[in-house]
Amino acid sequence: MSVRVISSIKEMHEFSNAVKSEKKKIGLVPTMGYLHEGHLSLVRASKKNADVTVVSIFVNPTQFAPSEDFDKYPRDFERDKRLLEKEEVDVIFYPLSDEIYPENFQTYVSVKDVTQILEGVFRPTHFEGVTTIVNILFNSVKPDIAFFGQKDAQQAAVIKQMVNDLKMDIEISVQPIVRESDGLAMSSRNIFLNESERKDALVLYNSLRYAEELIKRGERDKERIISEMKMIINSAVSAKLDYIDVVESNTFSLVDKIEEGKSYYFLIACRIGATRLIDNILLTV
Ligand code: AMP
Repeated sequence: MSVRVISSIKEMHEFSNAVKSEKKKIGLVPTMGYLHEGHLSLVRASKKNADVTVVSIFVNPTQFAPSEDFDKYPRDFERDKRLLEKEEVDVIFYPLSDEIYPENFQTYVSVKDVTQILEGVFRPTHFEGVTTIVNILFNSVKPDIAFFGQKDAQQAAVIKQMVNDLKMDIEISVQPIVRESDGLAMSSRNIFLNESERKDALVLYNSLRYAEELIKRGERDKERIISEMKMIINSAVSAKLDYIDVVESNTFSLVDKIEEGKSYYFLIACRIGATRLIDNILLTV
């Protein structure tokens, strides 16, 4: 059966109200399209946990800085639609930019502290764009549960903070990172990598795996681990590191020390040629 595509907010509201009147649970998977197995893993989680699954596809201009790749970001709606049809998704929410951000648009949602570190340092306007669009998507689709990837671990932490602070009655489910067979985290942006960059891109995952190895061997000195990771990153000619850092997994705040019994995200952002990639690993010490 063909998947229903909804573009107008009014139609989205009507659909969601009808689903809710039947006491059915709506799952939302927000995406920017150009779908890969990472996105599809979120779709499958939604199919498992909700009665009706809505996948939104919207390349959100407000989360890109003027210098970033909004115009270049890959788009292929027909391909995405075919993939989602196969997954038996109920609705693709494919809103029009003019309806999301009409000329007189003036309301932005911003989260304070957790947006200021890591990605926030390199992309200072990014998270405000993310939280604003996620709010609009939540208000349009009215999900009971929304699915995000650990691939964007800081984004998931920011969304959880927002949902908690603004008392939104929405469950946030974070799903594990899906990787290529050699370990590269799947990303719509991987298509920009040429052959040699594709090989170089492995340094992100390799350095995260090395951090895991060091932790397993009993290393607890954060700076020493990071400096070993940096050596791996710097072994790739096309790699330029933005950051490697460590946050405690529950609070998502940066740490100086690695302590027994706690869990941490080791996070990397690195440019491979002109393509900026992020990756992370969750380690329990
Ligand atoms: P994007 O289309 O890049 O905005 O991503 C949409 C959602 O898919 C976000 O919640 C991402 O964290 C998630 N996602 C992207 N890549 C992966 C991946 N490799 N594994 C799991 N989830 C992912």
